[in-house]
Amino acid sequence: MDEQEVEIAVVGAGITGMAMALALAKAGRNVTLLSAGPLPTRVPDQPLDGRTAALLQPAIELLTRLGVFDPTGLGAEPLYRLRIVNMADAAAPSITFDAAEIGLDAFGWNIPNASLATTLAAAVRRAPEITICADAALSSVVETRDRLILRAGQHRLAARLVIGADGRNSVVRETAAIPTTEKDRGQTAIVCRFAHARPHRNISTELHKRGGPFTMVPLPGRNSSLVWVDTDAKSAERLAMTDRAFLSAMAVHATPWLGEIGSVSARHAYPIRARLAKALTAPRRALIGEAAHVMSPLGAQGLNLSLRDVQTLANLLADHPGDPGDDTLLAAYASARNTDVKTRFWGVDTLNMLVKGSLPPFRQASSLALGLLDSLPPARRLLMQGLMQGA
Ligand SMILES: Cc1cc2nc3c(=O)[nH]c(=O)nc-3n(C[C@H](O)[C@H](O)[C@H](O)COP(=O)(O)OP(=O)(O)OC[C@H]3O[C@@H](n4cnc5c(N)ncnc54)[C@H](O)[C@@H]3O)c2cc1C
Repeated sequence: MDEQEVEIAVVGAGITGMAMALALAKAGRNVTLLSAGPLPTRVPDQPLDGRTAALLQPAIELLTRLGVFDPTGLGAEPLYRLRIVNMADAAAPSITFDAAEIGLDAFGWNIPNASLATTLAAAVRRAPEITICADAALSSVVETRDRLILRAGQHRLAARLVIGADGRNSVVRETAAIPTTEKDRGQTAIVCRFAHARPHRNISTELHKRGGPFTMVPLPGRNSSLVWVDTDAKSAERLAMTDRAFLSAMAVHATPWLGEIGSVSARHAYPIRARLAKALTAPRRALIGEAAHVMSPLGAQGLNLSLRDVQTLANLLADHPGDPGDDTLLAAYASARNTDVKTRFWGVDTLNMLVKGSLPPFRQASSLALGLLDSLPPARRLLMQGLMQGA
């Protein structure tokens, strides 16, 4: 097998990996994208991924620069307001954040993952700077003095920098022996889409219930996506329900906000198992996206964080025409991303514990925090700005 010399190899053709390859192409760097299977293509009515992602303005700006943000084509819907309701407390304080409070039209957009992935794939295929290796699941990595030798399907590559975008069980991370921190809170998310009688008025509503949040996020028309996080046992029961029984169960929570519930799509299950890589880099390797951090969907932080990894690494590589696997560059990447990644990971896990409400002090703290935020507009604005900027 011939060994092919490449400058930068991006491993994993999920949303993060494809965005990374495109961002590097835009920065004028040649890149090889290793995809475990073929790149995703749109199959009508067969979503590859039942999820949608609420992406905040900085992520939308990146997608716009990459030339892939077409709201109509993507089936995206803007998010003007975010409402949080604490259902676990009898006093049940609720709080609504309005994008106008921080001078924005919208916090961001809700985008179906499947349409974002297929749109990115089409842009990747058009970019002359990107070489796609399909059916190329990475299986081994060998270090030499100034290269990493990768075996991936029929391919053997010698790369100066390897970017691990290969998801939660990252082979790039494992072959670099980077340990992880695991947080298993015993929860599973059920995801589906549903139609409703009343307009959603572009408000995303997160009901904080014992067991986990029940979140309704606007889609075009009178449609929303649902992310219903609960204990593994309760989610398993709901996954086993008939369509009719599931509709009745979810309508109990959704109808007060969105009116009568019409059709409900197929349900998809996502076990929530948070994982944090203890280092973002190793010699000639950088981790991005879920290869570096996997977290609960609470607060919709995961992909937003991943796209900030992409932007940071692309900026550094654009400013560094020399060896892309240079130690100084990798140290700069780790230092630029460390605080944002750790703050989000531990922040989301703590919030998840508050919402899940397994212990009374957590429930009380949650009510207190929401009440305080509601009565303190400067604190609310600070929180919203932090949410948007990755601070
Ligand atoms: C229920 C739910 C709701 C969510 N909602 C939001 C939200 O509203 N907002 C938000 O910002 N985030 C959200 N997230 C998080 C977001 O969906 C994920 O962070 C994102 O989809 C992960 O993308 P990724 O590309 O990093 O990883 P993945 O999608 O896992 O992609 C990894 C890719 O690597 C490939 N791969 C794996 N191993 C190899 C190998 N050895 N060689 C080559 N390729 C390999 C895989 O085939 C895959 O294509 C949510 C998550 C969940 C579970």
